[in-house]
Amino acid sequence: MKLISVSERLKEFRSTKEYVEWRSFILKRDKKCVLCGSKEKLEVDHIKSLALYPRLGLKKNNGRVLCHICHKKTDTYGVFSRFKDSSSIHPVLAGDLLFKIQSLPQTIEIYGKEIGFSLRYIPEFKKWVAGYKFAKVNLSAKENTIEEVVDSIFDKLRYSQIPR
Ligand SMILES: [Zn+2]
Repeated sequence: MKLISVSERLKEFRSTKEYVEWRSFILKRDKKCVLCGSKEKLEVDHIKSLALYPRLGLKKNNGRVLCHICHKKTDTYGVFSRFKDSSSIHPVLAGDLLFKIQSLPQTIEIYGKEIGFSLRYIPEFKKWVAGYKFAKVNLSAKENTIEEVVDSIFDKLRYSQIPR
């Protein structure tokens, strides 16, 4: 069984014909930095990062042109480089599920209480449940697969507001 690290996988992906075509499509479509309008040092950004959402790597609505300066300011810039040369990831964890789970906060603080992350399978419903739950705050999700439930939690963390 061959182990593939995240860095190897991304390097491989970026050398594919499909990626090169996707990149040039985005450059031709946007033509300039979509945030500031600059035409200097243009780069193609994955809106949902490639490391965390490999399946969206070639989606045209997941790409945008940014100048180097705006690109560096995005919150996912270099999200992956922190993991460079770290341990290899087992191919069974396709879509870097492990990477995603490791990226989730282990605890979040709500109303001064530390709420831990939980992930479990409920056989009666044949569903995966994951998230953080405390009193009125429910940052959890129920899905058919681990991957889906972890993706849902990422979205919830991104868009949730703590109720007053
Ligand atoms: Zn810019």
